[in-house]
Amino acid sequence: MAEKELIFQIKNLQMWFPIRKGFMRKTTGHVKAVDDVSLDVYKGETLGIVGESGCGKSTLGKTIMMLNNPTGGQVLFNYEGQFKDITKFTSQELFQFRKKVQMVFQDPYSALNPLKKIYTAFEEPLKVHGVSSKEERERIMEDVLKMVNIQPDYLLRYPHEFSGGQRQRLCIARALEVRPEVLICDEPVSALDVSIQAQVLNLMKKIQKDLGLTYLFIAHDLSVVQYMSNRIVVMYLGKIVEIADSRTLYDEPLHPYTCALLSAIPVPQIRQEKKRIVLPGEVPSPIRKPTGCALHPRCPHCMEKCKQVDPVLSRYKDGEHLVACHLYGKED
Ligand code: SF4
Repeated sequence: MAEKELIFQIKNLQMWFPIRKGFMRKTTGHVKAVDDVSLDVYKGETLGIVGESGCGKSTLGKTIMMLNNPTGGQVLFNYEGQFKDITKFTSQELFQFRKKVQMVFQDPYSALNPLKKIYTAFEEPLKVHGVSSKEERERIMEDVLKMVNIQPDYLLRYPHEFSGGQRQRLCIARALEVRPEVLICDEPVSALDVSIQAQVLNLMKKIQKDLGLTYLFIAHDLSVVQYMSNRIVVMYLGKIVEIADSRTLYDEPLHPYTCALLSAIPVPQIRQEKKRIVLPGEVPSPIRKPTGCALHPRCPHCMEKCKQVDPVLSRYKDGEHLVACHLYGKED
């Protein structure tokens, strides 16, 4: 990427879900799905977000999209050089914001109404966003279908007449109708066969290049994320533990959690055998996170300080590689 221009600045974002119990539905605790997440997203990049199930990556995507009402923090979006905090937006402003940021969901089967023809599913968002001319709507629909290599006459079919890969391509096309700047893709290929995954990923890369889109690419498949992303964010229990460009993260991971995660990627037998790092124990509940570093009960490098002090995400050797671990922190 030549010049880096920010499109999102996420500051101390929190998404806590209350746990209510009893007759009076009293709040007895919180599930801290996203806990104090700060992150920059640059225009035109693909930012991969990885972590185990339940680490908060999908909730982060939905909260950036304002599908969840965040508990705290800011999400600043670049409106032609001026950053506006979308957490303060009115419903009308959010409606306009969603033209700029669209989401592609994991399950293409449930993303399309089985009772409606593709034509209706594609026409509705355009009507909602004020494209009043039928000719104009049909022109846009045909354009986006061509982008995903689906024939325009398929508009008159029902979702069940398409394969899984075609359905996901339809979902991508529908998201492109309003000419967004950012696509938040939440596990976009994990419901598809491996051969179809490659097709969809390559198509997404081509569309990104043609339209200059920014992707937030959420996935648990590390190979898929490596293939797609310029930079990668690793999450554990609602927090970011490491951020680096794709090559650095895979070649020189720093955080013990990232090392364990990457050691689980299968390698072809002819290549040198890789040592698998298995973290002991289970992922703790996000309701009762351990004190200090959340990984400390499972970390092979745990020190006394790790049990008390939560490490801050900071620059490693003042570079672009960020890590939240006392192994790399400056001495107090
Ligand atoms: Fe392990 Fe301590 Fe680093 Fe946490 S801060 S990952 S417990 S070494």
